Amino acid sequence: MLKYISNKGGGKPVNFETAILNGFASDGGLYVPEKLPKISKNELKKWKGLGFKDLCFEIVSLFIDREIISSDELKIIIDKSYDAFEVENAVTLYKLKSREQTYIMELFHGPTLSFKDIGQSFLVNLLDFLLKRKKESLSIIVATTGDTGPAAANYIAGKSSLDAWILYPKGLITEEQERQMTTLHNNNIHPVGVYNCPEGGDDLDTVISKLYSNKKFKKKVKLSSINSINWGRIIAQMTHYFYGYLKVADYIGEDINISVPSGGFGNLCAGGFARKMGLPIKNFIIANNKNESLNRIFRNGVISKDKIHETISSAIDIITPYNFWRYLYFCNGQNSKNIKIWSNEFETKGEFHFDDKTFKSYRDGFLSFSVSDKSTIGTIKSIYENENYLLDPHGSVAISALNSMDEKLSHNKTICLATAHPAKFPKVILKSLNKTKLPEAGKHKSIEGAKKKCQKGYHCDYSNLEKSLLNAIETNWERSKKIIVK
Ligand SMILES: *Cc1c(COP(=O)(O)O)cnc(C)c1O
Repeated sequence: MLKYISNKGGGKPVNFETAILNGFASDGGLYVPEKLPKISKNELKKWKGLGFKDLCFEIVSLFIDREIISSDELKIIIDKSYDAFEVENAVTLYKLKSREQTYIMELFHGPTLSFKDIGQSFLVNLLDFLLKRKKESLSIIVATTGDTGPAAANYIAGKSSLDAWILYPKGLITEEQERQMTTLHNNNIHPVGVYNCPEGGDDLDTVISKLYSNKKFKKKVKLSSINSINWGRIIAQMTHYFYGYLKVADYIGEDINISVPSGGFGNLCAGGFARKMGLPIKNFIIANNKNESLNRIFRNGVISKDKIHETISSAIDIITPYNFWRYLYFCNGQNSKNIKIWSNEFETKGEFHFDDKTFKSYRDGFLSFSVSDKSTIGTIKSIYENENYLLDPHGSVAISALNSMDEKLSHNKTICLATAHPAKFPKVILKSLNKTKLPEAGKHKSIEGAKKKCQKGYHCDYSNLEKSLLNAIETNWERSKKIIVK
């Protein structure tokens, strides 16, 4: 039986089901499998022709015991997760004409138009399956820098096993993203726009941690989280790395680079694990914007907090890359004691320097760069002018980072991840193209539709958030229980 443990070493090992339902481990650490499975070149060869859903089935099966979810049940969960995508294989590849050996992998064809749909759809359908079987329900609380929230709201809407509180920093996400959450009118969706977050979306995670450590409250309303700390999202997100590699590589073993616009290291953590499991990716390019926590970790060996900068690639305005600790666990000989000491030191002092050996081991195969808004805009403009292809600001960060380091990458193929649809960021697109009207490629019918709908949600000042949430969640929980009892 495959067990999951905390990367900080506390608590007892648990099975897959408990790891998914709990979100965080009992000591506040992140769940990791006791060991990572290995995939041979022969297996990769066999997987080469598979569609996205079949590939996802093969990959997530490596992490789930069949006694917990049978293969038929898992297939149904995966179908439910990806059938609503606009394209048959969930993601698509586009080969650039104006840049050699460069592919864009579009991860934004799910219902809410960002890569968060890939992990969140799977996690929510998985949770719903596990909860219905236990005849239980959960309150979910989730913070967003703009894309996790819409994805969570979309999949949770109407599911009787789940009730979702979705916190977003008011004014720091686009109106289009906000409307994706506030125009769903289901009773189990509660968007909360929060004013005056001094550190942007990261502040909301702090409040969530506080609610989590309130044991009585947590138990009463059955609180859990589907932030990127949930292991279910990571395993689903491994799929696009395998899929992209197998599509682009001429033979198994070809060196291919992947450039990833990054904030919390959730997407990259999945990629890093995919490589450790045997996927022959040469370099990952960590593309940060001005919020460059990851760039500091990978260039200087220091994890540290800076103040938040507002940028035009707002979904990656993140200063605490939680999932880095999860990746690190598999680079330091699975030494949970050190993870605990180091992360505690970081939390109390706001900074931690890794020793040389650790630095070398986690840095292997990663390059990083911090991209300015100016280059993000310049890249959107030049790719549009050169080949009539419209990038969103995050895809543009991935390509801009690649532009800054060409010599280092010799002449291998590179896949750049485009993590959002440009229609979510119309102001940035207009500014970049220096136009007053959006081109067709910058529009999407679901975004247009949401413009006309009535909005629903809470608004709250950050200073009062914890108290207000305690009240609102509790009141709602009691009311919904009464309805069920009747
Ligand atoms: C969340 C998000 C990212 C960053 O993903 P992490 O897992 O936090 O690194 C990048 N681009 C977009 C559009 C996102 O929504």
